[in-house]
Amino acid sequence: MVLPFRVNEYVIRELIDWSAAPNDPIYNLVFPQPGMLLPGHLSRITGLISTGSSEAELKRAAREIQLTLNAHPAGQKELNVPWMDGRPVQGVQHKYRETVLFFPAAGQSCHSYCMYCFRWAQFARPDRFRFEAHQPIALVQYLQVHPEVSSVLITGGDPLVMSTEVLRQFVEPLLDPSLNHIQSIRFGTKSLSYWPHRFVSDSDADDLLMLFEEIQATGRHVALMAHVSHPRELEPPIVAEAIRRIRGTGAVIRTQSPVVRGVNDGVGPWTTLWKTQVRLGLVPYYMFVARDTGAQHHFKISLAEALEIFSGAYRQVSGLGRTARGPVMSATPGKVAVTGVSRMKGEEVFVLSFLQGRDPSWVGQPFFARFDPDAAWLDELRPAFGDSEFFFEARLREIKATLPAGRSPQSVPPLLRTLPGPKPRTPNPAWRRKLRKS
Ligand SMILES: *Cc1c(COP(=O)(O)O)cnc(C)c1O
Ligand code: SF4
Repeated sequence: MVLPFRVNEYVIRELIDWSAAPNDPIYNLVFPQPGMLLPGHLSRITGLISTGSSEAELKRAAREIQLTLNAHPAGQKELNVPWMDGRPVQGVQHKYRETVLFFPAAGQSCHSYCMYCFRWAQFARPDRFRFEAHQPIALVQYLQVHPEVSSVLITGGDPLVMSTEVLRQFVEPLLDPSLNHIQSIRFGTKSLSYWPHRFVSDSDADDLLMLFEEIQATGRHVALMAHVSHPRELEPPIVAEAIRRIRGTGAVIRTQSPVVRGVNDGVGPWTTLWKTQVRLGLVPYYMFVARDTGAQHHFKISLAEALEIFSGAYRQVSGLGRTARGPVMSATPGKVAVTGVSRMKGEEVFVLSFLQGRDPSWVGQPFFARFDPDAAWLDELRPAFGDSEFFFEARLREIKATLPAGRSPQSVPPLLRTLPGPKPRTPNPAWRRKLRKS
């Protein structure tokens, strides 16, 4: 009610070990647990239920609680949505120079919901809180004037909940020769874990694989950014079959997941995860730290513990598994990795570095925070050596100050509504002909 819940039959039948529930990691991944609500919030909801309050009263309480849960962490709404012609570009986030995120409206759900989801507001909150685009036109126009962008990441939710036919309408316009600077197209997905049939036996599974091939035929790379939380997700035989079929198109599957209490908070699961992935031809990519949103207080582990888990697993895999990077915080200034703990100038410090930054010049510069065994997020860290702030903070203030002043992205009509016609306009006639035929 406060946080979204959905689980499908595949997860219930194939992934959860019911003899271990409620301590089973996959059970914890998809089923709500009382500790996810803060004690005050929980007693408010249970109180309303026990006094027989109306549906409307319960809904109002749930909304009020949602408003306290930091729905869009790391300044996504204020800082990441780009503007063009005096308006926000709907369904687009552009935080790092080379990569644009795109949120097609029909892809803003998942086959099941992870309880730690950092996109929960996409599912639970009223429409005006959502990032979503109904057409690709604004994205295409934006990319045409941004030649520095080389990668588009189509995300959600899970864009592969869309039928291939709908997905195609968002992807094909990106293949236009006017966008030859787009060298890779990525799909952020949990379908490999929650619904591998998407790539094997769904009625449009073959068509999806053809779409991957079609993208690559234009000279672009296709990457599936698969969210895999626990090694058990890779065990069912149909997953190996899905991987074989996806790789058969030439697409590369890279994997990422946060490290989460009760789901995968151990060296064992991560070692198995990375070893299994290498065996199956998957490329380990990111280990994230649980973000400061939703039920983070329930799922989070400290940065120190996350680092121990990462290093412990990293040391046990061959070089092919050491493509994994982390533990990483996707925070307001950028993707910050905790690379180690060290002693410098008599002080115990975390060694940190940017894997991505709002200012690209930050990337790769090591910086230092006072070691704190309890800190679980960047804003809980203090600079080392008595410095008053981190090296990036002054520049970050500057960046924030240059944003479209005093206007929230919701306060003006979206760009889309000013464009005529019900169909997306695309500069590619071949694509238009194809759409008409189908
Ligand atoms: C992680 C992320 C990306 C992609 O970063 P890569 O390092 O290229 O994988 C792009 N945009 C946002 C907002 C992100 O959080
Ligand atoms: S797959 Fe990603 S977007 Fe979907 S519920 Fe899980 S964390 Fe959220």
